[in-house]
Order: sequence, then C-alpha cells, then structure tokens
Amino acid sequence: MPNQTEASNQIAGTGLGPCPKCDAVCVVQFAWGQKRCNSCGHQWPELSAMQRGPTRRDVLNGKA
Ligand SMILES: [Zn+2]
Repeated sequence: MPNQTEASNQIAGTGLGPCPKCDAVCVVQFAWGQKRCNSCGHQWPELSAMQRGPTRRDVLNGKA
C-alpha cells in the first residue's frame, strides 16, 4: 500500500527540486523567483546573483 500523501505528490510534481545541497524535493519558490529547501533551509540562487540595479554595497559606497 502506497504511503504517499497527496501533498507530497504535488510537491514532487512542481519541478522546483531537488535541493542542490541535500536532494530533498520539498522545495518552495518565492514570488521573486528564489527557491528554498524546507529540509535544510538552503536558498538558491543567491539573491545577489539575481538582483539588477544598485546593491546594498553600492548604496553604502555612495554609487547610488
Ligand atoms: Zn536542502
């Protein structure tokens, strides 16, 4: 008898996972496109790699 819940089937079918760190498929995606693993807490890709425009460091350096 299969021991899978409907929820786990939905998660496995989202195409978001698996986590690059722990291979878990319990991955959620934020509205801004970043993904987070609910198993180990890893988030990817890093926001600094996704951002366009002035970063916090640029602002502190007076560039923006
Ligand atoms: Zn993970």
